[in-house]
Amino acid sequence: DRVAVEGWLTLESAQKVFADAGLDFTAEKELAKAGPYNKALNLKASVTVKNSFKTSESYNVIASLPGADSPDEHVIFTAHWDHLGKDETKEGDQIYNGAHDNATGVAAALVMAKAYANLNIKPQRSTTFLIVTAEEQGLLGSKYYSEHPIIPLDKTVANINMDAMSVLGKTKDVAVIGMGKSELETYLAKAAKRQNRYLVEEGHPEAGYYYRSDHFSFAKQGVPALYAKGGEVPVDEATAQYRKRTNVIVRGCYHQVCDQFRESWDLSGIEEDAQLLFEVGYDLLSSDDWPNWAETSEFQRQK
Ligand SMILES: [Zn+2]
Repeated sequence: DRVAVEGWLTLESAQKVFADAGLDFTAEKELAKAGPYNKALNLKASVTVKNSFKTSESYNVIASLPGADSPDEHVIFTAHWDHLGKDETKEGDQIYNGAHDNATGVAAALVMAKAYANLNIKPQRSTTFLIVTAEEQGLLGSKYYSEHPIIPLDKTVANINMDAMSVLGKTKDVAVIGMGKSELETYLAKAAKRQNRYLVEEGHPEAGYYYRSDHFSFAKQGVPALYAKGGEVPVDEATAQYRKRTNVIVRGCYHQVCDQFRESWDLSGIEEDAQLLFEVGYDLLSSDDWPNWAETSEFQRQK
């Protein structure tokens, strides 16, 4: 059974928990590496959770460009349009604009939709854009969609998600969040190669980003889902300098009212990443393939 309260522990806290149980963290870690590990620590925790609930209504937005040959088969692009709203207890600026998180993804989706609509030859499969709400409240919009899909999940070839695209300029690498999970990466690698770029595993897998944006809602239902963005290796020295300066602001403004559009942003990285994901989508739309999850992935298509 699920326990009543679940959470993440910092390494420091985990070490303390093991020490309190009279166990040596390092030794236990080695045991856990060696094979299945399941040990009762015989500790008790008192936990208080205070919640307040508010019911409100919001909307996902969906639009499709029908494919020429297999219109019932879809590739779904997602980007969340919501952010944190308004905080009236704040002095001065009270509005969470969410320019980086996630107007960047929504803007990319709009540009890509326009580009797909303007193709001279329609791809064989249908292209769908799903702009979801309430991501910041716990992926609620995409969760709702994936549990009440408009396009049957077994006709949904793949999901490509765009969330907080990189405003840090062009990069030589493409960071894959949750690398190794699905065959969608082979499409991504091909498109990256055309841009002279290469794939790397995103640098902070311990932060669990694969489980923290809207593609996860599709993954849970078995639809292969890709989440990738510009990596950490700037294309040149000027970009490296710009990146250093801007990263401080971007990080500092994560989920703050100062996440707002800046004239100084170098959007060329987003442009390149949008082109990349457009091409991944295009290749999937132009094929009969049904990419799979990796065998080692915890996600698999539901039969
Ligand atoms: Zn986001």
